[in-house]
Amino acid sequence: MTDREIVPKLYEMVRPYRGLLLLAMLGMVAVAGLSAAQAYMMKPLIDEIFIKKDRLMLTLVPVALILLFVVKGACYYSYSFLLSKVGQAVVRDMRLKLYSHTQNLPLSFFYRTPTGELISRIVSDVALVQGMVSNVLVSVLKDSAMAVFLLGVIFFHDWQLALIALFSLPLLILPIVRFGRKHRKLSTSSQEITAEVSNILYETITGNRIVKAFCMEEHEKGRFGQVLERLFNVFLRDVRVSALSHPLMEIFASFGIAGVMWYGGFQVLNGHSTPGTFFSFITALIMLYEPLKGASKINSTVQRGFAASVRVFSMLEVRPDIEEKPSARVLPAVSREIEFREVRFRYDADNEVLAGINLRVRVGEVLAIVGSSGGGKTTMVNLIPRFCDVSDGAILVDGVDIREVTLHSLRHQIAMVTQQTILFNDTVRNNIAYGSLHASMEEIEAAAAAAHALDFIRQLPQGFDTVIGESGARLSGGERQRISIARAILKNAPILILDEATSALDTESERLVQRALENLMQNRTTFVIAHRLSTVRNADRIIVLQKGRIVEQGTHDQLLPRNGVYKHLYDMQFQK
Ligand code: ADP
Ligand code: MG
Repeated sequence: MTDREIVPKLYEMVRPYRGLLLLAMLGMVAVAGLSAAQAYMMKPLIDEIFIKKDRLMLTLVPVALILLFVVKGACYYSYSFLLSKVGQAVVRDMRLKLYSHTQNLPLSFFYRTPTGELISRIVSDVALVQGMVSNVLVSVLKDSAMAVFLLGVIFFHDWQLALIALFSLPLLILPIVRFGRKHRKLSTSSQEITAEVSNILYETITGNRIVKAFCMEEHEKGRFGQVLERLFNVFLRDVRVSALSHPLMEIFASFGIAGVMWYGGFQVLNGHSTPGTFFSFITALIMLYEPLKGASKINSTVQRGFAASVRVFSMLEVRPDIEEKPSARVLPAVSREIEFREVRFRYDADNEVLAGINLRVRVGEVLAIVGSSGGGKTTMVNLIPRFCDVSDGAILVDGVDIREVTLHSLRHQIAMVTQQTILFNDTVRNNIAYGSLHASMEEIEAAAAAAHALDFIRQLPQGFDTVIGESGARLSGGERQRISIARAILKNAPILILDEATSALDTESERLVQRALENLMQNRTTFVIAHRLSTVRNADRIIVLQKGRIVEQGTHDQLLPRNGVYKHLYDMQFQK
């Protein structure tokens, strides 16, 4: 992404606030003008009061000075406030936009992108972009206006002297340009390392139990230390560059000022100029240094901001590959069947995970999918809610391709219990009601009862109002699973997908939950994946998935005598 492409995108973010910005700009120009006026006031101060000893001026000039500062202060206050307001509003909008965008991204994006990196983009890169936007405005508007006004003052006083003063200007520009480029490169690396830092933090904090269990604390400390060291070094190189630009500019500027002192002083002594003009000139010249310094700082902020913008906007460019067609219809409640037609799927180009699945599942049927791990069972059921789209073939609900209907109407009909239970750091009640926000307490309790979760929930310190910690850390694996089963029960959707939903339960509670699930399966179309074959025995049909193909199908009683893969799997479990 080039800078040229980024500018219109940035403008798009700022556009809603252009009215406020215009006001801020007015304030900035006023501040710039009043600063130049300050420099100009040196002339009456010296010439009228000290040289001509004008008593009226002695009262007028100080009063004018106070007025000037009051007005300038008011303008400064307004523009700083307005500018910060716009800046923070842009940050808020941008974070929300990024977040909304990530929520719509396909699962494959999350497989590829480390969580810490996402967090760092939304939090720290966006802040850098904001820093750039507000600073650029201050610099471009206030500083350049101030430079113009101050140049006006010095040229007005003595254009020849002004030319001498500006003689050193090209020398001042040099460090600005040279250091800026370097700065951008360093800033990109520092943000990339920052992303790495947040990534390690995220992984080792959420996975701290494993870090401890494998005695990897020292290793992780070392790894983190190394990354911090790299960050430290990048910052140092950055500081070395930026700390140099300030004194260099000052030294270059001193050449110009020295030249002016010499020639200007000479003019005053000759009687060609007045001391007032001379001091006003010098004051304006020294004040001129301020906006120039701003320009050098702005350059580094801009470079950093652009580097961050590239990261932010390139993330916004990632198109969700699961997209709703503009013509998408609302899928009516499933009434006949779900069909897999010649479904092929691959995560990446070379290996095919599903290699031609043909299957029709009637409404109300319980279909069990078994097979050794890695066979593609999870992948197959993930295609139904369109977490991924088929690479070839189609999935149809009542004859309608699921790519032709709205995601919401499709997913609304599906309740899912997965192998990894995903719970949020919220109360038990809200975790169960996730996705069913308007459920009543009675309904929530009934769902919990059906999932055989009521007993343990009642024993929690605050019952349904207990906050269960990050990822439900305060519950056992089986308890977590029963909460996610309750969540699916509460959703009460016509299609039910159970992906090893009972794997974390002990045999006793599994039997209980199994009964609950069997109740739940009534009048629903169910896809159930289970490791323990005892749980699939009662399914209407069992398919055996191996290397992405259906190698056997039938009921338990039909499959067992066939002495095939199913029999083999069954024997392995029940060593009879
Ligand atoms: P099962 O549920 O039967 O154990 P999966 O459907 O989870 O099998 O996985 C089938 C194959 O797809 C495995 O070989 C696995 O390595 C691969 N796979 C699963 N998820 C991904 C992914 N996100 N990216 C790439 N490959 C994947
Ligand atoms: Mg699986």
